[in-house]
Amino acid sequence: SVALAATLAATSACSNTRDAEKSPSGSSGTNLVGIAMPTRSLERWNNDGAHLDSLLKKAGYTTSLQYADNKVDQQITQIENMINQNPKVLVVASIDGTALGPVLEKAANAKIKVIAYDRLINATKNVDYYATFDNYLVGKLQGEFIVDKLGLKDGKGPFNLEPFAGSSDDNNAKFFFNGAWDVLKPYVESGKLVIPSGKKIAGEEDWKTVSITGWKSETAQAEMDNRINSFYTGGKKVNVVLSPNDSLALGIAQSLDSKGYKPGAEYPLITGQDADLANTKNVLADKQAMTVWKDTRTLGDQVAKMVDAIVKGTAVATNDDKTYNNGVKVVPAYLLPPVVVTKADVKTKLVDSGFYTADKLGL
Ligand code: BGC
Repeated sequence: SVALAATLAATSACSNTRDAEKSPSGSSGTNLVGIAMPTRSLERWNNDGAHLDSLLKKAGYTTSLQYADNKVDQQITQIENMINQNPKVLVVASIDGTALGPVLEKAANAKIKVIAYDRLINATKNVDYYATFDNYLVGKLQGEFIVDKLGLKDGKGPFNLEPFAGSSDDNNAKFFFNGAWDVLKPYVESGKLVIPSGKKIAGEEDWKTVSITGWKSETAQAEMDNRINSFYTGGKKVNVVLSPNDSLALGIAQSLDSKGYKPGAEYPLITGQDADLANTKNVLADKQAMTVWKDTRTLGDQVAKMVDAIVKGTAVATNDDKTYNNGVKVVPAYLLPPVVVTKADVKTKLVDSGFYTADKLGL
């Protein structure tokens, strides 16, 4: 009928208008954004991907969100496929920060802008912006926490410390370690922190001797088992473990549990990062002393703003233009602040902010 046709016409006109308003690219071209994430095996990347994807969709973009199972080749193929779909922007949380040069050359040739997400992409000029948390500060907060908790400034000690570092192909790992070690090193030198496993971290690259490839919990667990079996004989106890993040902290705690350490005052002080669910529960159960929380929602917000500014040709906000030299250039970065969470403030920081429901944490 005429009435129905009129209704349909009105509806479609209306939805066209809405689409045109919503679509940042207007009527011309694609408004696709490619999002390449490293792995689903770590909780945070699932949250990161889902949040950014939903923000961009709400802003009228279409998205292609891909996870690469921590496999570098798979990530490269995924990015290649995205490039073939002619996106406006690529957002990449890299697995190996040095392996993306060739594929990003293709992106640059196709005039696609690239944002490094959380992890810097190295050895290429074809990375336009970087959004992350202040990675050096993450490590510094872990180091300062250890110093405060052990009373090292009051001359307490010596304590037995076991240091760990993250995956050496991840540019962040060195920042985390250096941030912590700059704080802890004087106490290692003065003998107030002793490293029974004999790991020596003196030179620039020595942190790699305590690095856990792929950030794997199982590898961290096996490494902690080895150190305990070989160096903690005759009643010697681990007092403190510098763990760069929660996936390592989880494996380390499992090792300690299996070696008979009991939660509470006697449990070694373990640091972490990410406020993953299992680790936040360990914090509540006195099996992890702290976690450095990076509210990944704020990182997504920042990156969504960057994408929109790039597409619309407006100024892209950055707040650091000196720290992140990728070997070819200094990548303009936006750094967000990390936050220490302990048992005392799980509720005020993680629950009140809506990061977790009290229910989920069993509170
Ligand atoms: C991230 C951490 C994460 C680690 C392992 C790092 O690049 O910054 O938040 O724990 O990778 O996925």
